[in-house]
Amino acid sequence: MTTDHLTTDHLTSDTWSVVNPATGRPIAKVALATTEQTDAAIEAAHAAFPAWRDVAPGERARLLRRFAAVVDEHVEELAELEVRNAGHTWGNARWEAGNVRDCLNYYAGAPERMFGRQIPVPGGVDLTFHEPLGVVGIIVPWNFPMPIAAWGFAPALAAGNVVVLKPAELTPLTAIRLGELAREAGLPEHVLTVLPGAGPVVGERFVTHPLVRKVCFTGSTAVGKQIMAGCAEQVKRVTLELGGKSSNIVFADADIAAAAAAAPYAVFDNAGQDCCARSRILVERSAYDEFVSRLEPAVRGMRVLDPSDESSEMGPLISATQRDRVQGYLDGADIAFSGSTPGGDGFWVPPTVVTLDDPAQRLWREEVFGPVVAVMAFDDEADAVAKANDTDYGLSGSIFTRDLGRGLRVARAVQAGNLSVNSNSAVRYWTPFGGYKQSGLGRELGPDAPMAFTEEKNVFIAH
Ligand code: NAD
Repeated sequence: MTTDHLTTDHLTSDTWSVVNPATGRPIAKVALATTEQTDAAIEAAHAAFPAWRDVAPGERARLLRRFAAVVDEHVEELAELEVRNAGHTWGNARWEAGNVRDCLNYYAGAPERMFGRQIPVPGGVDLTFHEPLGVVGIIVPWNFPMPIAAWGFAPALAAGNVVVLKPAELTPLTAIRLGELAREAGLPEHVLTVLPGAGPVVGERFVTHPLVRKVCFTGSTAVGKQIMAGCAEQVKRVTLELGGKSSNIVFADADIAAAAAAAPYAVFDNAGQDCCARSRILVERSAYDEFVSRLEPAVRGMRVLDPSDESSEMGPLISATQRDRVQGYLDGADIAFSGSTPGGDGFWVPPTVVTLDDPAQRLWREEVFGPVVAVMAFDDEADAVAKANDTDYGLSGSIFTRDLGRGLRVARAVQAGNLSVNSNSAVRYWTPFGGYKQSGLGRELGPDAPMAFTEEKNVFIAH
């Protein structure tokens, strides 16, 4: 398949060579936007805002549904781009393209439901309105390029905003294509603008340009803190979806075989490059040996293959830098067992399990963002909760137990935004998603997401 049709020709600055991480070979060249081009795009978006804001709610809904339908027609093409550009498995890549379609369809229901309130007051009538903000800047990381873009642009557009979107340098191809499909579906020009570029150039300009009224950032906690500090200068609205160090807590009364069989997929999916990865497994001491012995064949049995093979369950890391970073955590670590890799020139690290008993160790504390899981024993419910909460992060987590009272109690006690009991399920577009503590600020998805792209205005009318 050729990627020549992906158009960034309007950008004339430096180019970026996009690489297939499974082979290390270049697959496309993409022009990177300069600061001047970013400013021009923001100004064009700002000029397009009044007309988009004033599109009748039903018509905006129809356009978003049309966009969803066009994405649906291109699921295979988008998935193939992601298999090649991000090293995602076919199963994941198809799900991700479908997730864009589903987000658009779901938020197409919003324009006609942006309800305000009528609040009883003496001497008149009090009404509230949800007014769109204007230009919204969305900064996307490389680990889930399509869903994370859509989680921002679908509710933002539904609420009547215009969007400028910067994909990660490493993975711009699907975002560029989605920008083209938006136009094909009939979205007016400059309503959704995709701007491939460097974080410190394009992303930074979203933060500093006064016409951008909100920044949605997904990425590392370190950059997220800079974004938040930068947005503070203009009291700019900001949503942050950052890192994680989430726990999979397995009690002795759980179905240990099922929990052990599922655990690899809760951390090694997308080669562990998942902010929700359950990269800590906490097992009740009396079940620890059984769990670890059942985990081993599950990990060794994972099909780690070039994702162009439809049966691949885990692909490569995104880049040589990321591979070296992850490998750095493993050098000298006490590895219990690991799976395989296909070798070759791609950026491979096998799924790897380390067993620990010291919570001060780096592998227990830091987000590796690779296929590495640390397993530790706990003594009782209080110890499990204390160990799970002993982190600066708080994004997700799982609890396996047959005692549903305990499942709910522990889910309430773990300081994280997204918990699942007897499942490792992650994100649904119709339920809220976001982090506690240093995993983020604000929530995406769910029924309230469009409201996060509005100002609530109060109007009093005297009798
Ligand atoms: P990153 O922070 O390096 O980059 C994320 C995005 O920010 C990229 O588009 C990058 O170009 C841009 N960027 C970099 N420097 C910038 C700057 N100074 N100003 C503005 N933009 C800038 O993160 P990454 O390596 O791409 O992604 C990995 C991290 O993302 C992990 O820590 C992971 O946990 C996190 N993540 C979180 C979630 C979530 O929903 N919580 C989802 C995916 C990834």
